[in-house]
Amino acid sequence: MPVSATTSFVVAPEVHALPVLGSSDLFAVRRIYCVGRNYLDHIREMKEADERDPPFFFQKPADALVQNRASIRYPDDTQDFQYEIELVVAIGAQGRKVSVAKALDLVFGYGVGLDMTRRDRQRDARDRRLPWEMGKSFDGSAPCTAIVPVAQSGHPDRGAITLHVNGVQKQRGDLSELIWKVPEIIANLSMQYELRPGDLIFTGTPAGVGPLMPGDQIVGEIAGFEQLHLQITEPRA
Ligand code: MN
Repeated sequence: MPVSATTSFVVAPEVHALPVLGSSDLFAVRRIYCVGRNYLDHIREMKEADERDPPFFFQKPADALVQNRASIRYPDDTQDFQYEIELVVAIGAQGRKVSVAKALDLVFGYGVGLDMTRRDRQRDARDRRLPWEMGKSFDGSAPCTAIVPVAQSGHPDRGAITLHVNGVQKQRGDLSELIWKVPEIIANLSMQYELRPGDLIFTGTPAGVGPLMPGDQIVGEIAGFEQLHLQITEPRA
């Protein structure tokens, strides 16, 4: 169905976007993909099975995005709401069945994100062999900083990735510990989906994941990028 500037909608479409560092332009987000299990020490703390499994992916809806320095309410339907700090890849070009050698050509830039997780719902799903949506794809589950264009950031393949809650360090890893590197993630994902400008890929979290409470202040950081700040507030009645 062709859409033009004069098209009128019964329900107006929403655009979900992130700032671009050093620009007044926004990065409009199309899809949010996430990689499961991509740091060895996190696989071990989760007591997951095969450490050599190929990467696997799940999605969050684009309207689950949360801007940097926002507050989110402790979500419904969980007693075990957890943080996962992750490097986020912002895709700026179309690609399908992309080779590892050419994968980085698709990258527009990078950000710092949180793969917020209802861990109890995720474990239920795993144990009952059900989809992960209830654990991973809920409202407010995808906080992310502004996107830094590659021209400024380069392609980070090492550097500390940390998360603090109320000033106490909870997660610490290094991007060099990613089992599946960014070019491999992009190449693998592009075998399953045609990647399009506006796609985000959350690349997995190091060890140290844990529960949050209302009032908690989270600071996520990846060396060379702006900090991600998030506050958790009381649940809705
Ligand atoms: Mn994750």
